Amino acid sequence: MTETQILDVFKKSEALLTGHFLLTSGRHSDKYFQCAKILQYPDHTEKLCTMIVDRFKEAEIDTVISPAIGGLVVGQEVSRQLNKRFVFAEREDGKLTLRRGFSLDKNEKVLVCEDVVTTGGSVFEVIDIVKNNNADVAGIGFIVDRSNGKVNFGFPQFSALKMNVASYPPEECPLCNSGSKPIKPGSRKL
Ligand code: ZN
Repeated sequence: MTETQILDVFKKSEALLTGHFLLTSGRHSDKYFQCAKILQYPDHTEKLCTMIVDRFKEAEIDTVISPAIGGLVVGQEVSRQLNKRFVFAEREDGKLTLRRGFSLDKNEKVLVCEDVVTTGGSVFEVIDIVKNNNADVAGIGFIVDRSNGKVNFGFPQFSALKMNVASYPPEECPLCNSGSKPIKPGSRKL
């Protein structure tokens, strides 16, 4: 898929909204992005995950791992296309952990998958889980890089789309300055 085709899918599934938004960080933005809206549709999910699979098809991969919750759909679909095992890490006392009897073997080759990376915190935590089990990180594949290419995980990495979403503190918001009021995305009014 080209960047234009991806953005078109994002807009059609209303994953990418344009307006005046109050983000959870308290900052304002003229764009709001919710990856889960795209992943509602299996055909979109399949195509985007094929991009990740294509990037890593030469790599040796035994297992795909994702941080819950955002990464689950992506990790599951990538593992389905590769026909490899899929496990996920979930938060326990605020820390990502392998539960449910999941484990990684020594030297197992692991592909880390995520939906959206902003600072990469969850992915870095999953990389630590892989390392702590003496398994090997084969790469990192994700759908959207909201850091616009700034995050570097130190392993081969691929994102289907790089995005740069500008946001402002309320007092510096150009949209507020022009008299408009922000709305909270995800509210029923949308
Ligand atoms: Zn504003």
